[in-house]
Amino acid sequence: MPAGCVFDQIRDGTVPAHIVADEPDFLAFLDVRPVFPGHTLIMPRRHVATLGELPEHLVGALFGQGRRVAQAMRPALGAHGAFLALNDEVSQSVAHVHLHVVPRRRKDGLRGFFWPRQAYADDGQAEGFADALRQALAGLPRPVP
Ligand SMILES: [Zn+2]
Repeated sequence: MPAGCVFDQIRDGTVPAHIVADEPDFLAFLDVRPVFPGHTLIMPRRHVATLGELPEHLVGALFGQGRRVAQAMRPALGAHGAFLALNDEVSQSVAHVHLHVVPRRRKDGLRGFFWPRQAYADDGQAEGFADALRQALAGLPRPVP
């Protein structure tokens, strides 16, 4: 693991954090700069830089932990729902894979702020993107059930 990974330091207790869940394979803690209070990060305890490097058996488990935290946000925070997100390399501020779980409330303003949308020029352009993705997916292994 690289020296100075702040998430490893949180795991090892040398950097303080507000721990939300301490599981055998995962650690969940509050993001220090939350989108909304209660915004939680879930990371594998073992240092893994990117989603592509995450061991297969932890991929689904990471999302399962995210679901669990999202469910806890309703009674704990009065949230109406949650937004789950994972920046893979681009915009990934710490090179240790982590899932964001952001508590949501209706009319909280996140939609326009965080999720700008655009249209395809036409159906042909959309089909070109779909075709490129289908071809690339055909060359990748399927997840283990
Ligand atoms: Zn790390």
